[in-house]
Amino acid sequence: MPTVKADLHACQGYANCVVGATDYFDLDDDGIVVLLKTKVPEPERSRVTEAARSCPVSALVVED
Ligand code: SF4
Repeated sequence: MPTVKADLHACQGYANCVVGATDYFDLDDDGIVVLLKTKVPEPERSRVTEAARSCPVSALVVED
């Protein structure tokens, strides 16, 4: 199953990912992304990948 990963050092808290997939991404009190889920069922892959790609600093990837 695909997995979503976050580079917490790269994240700048733009929150594009949260807007794109609120069930996968949230921000902590410091404005850094929190992964609510890491396993991405195939039917959700394109949606979560789009949300990951919306990150301006490329902090998120969906990998096989
Ligand atoms: S879009 Fe990127 S920089 Fe913004 S909160 Fe999400 S991971 Fe962090």
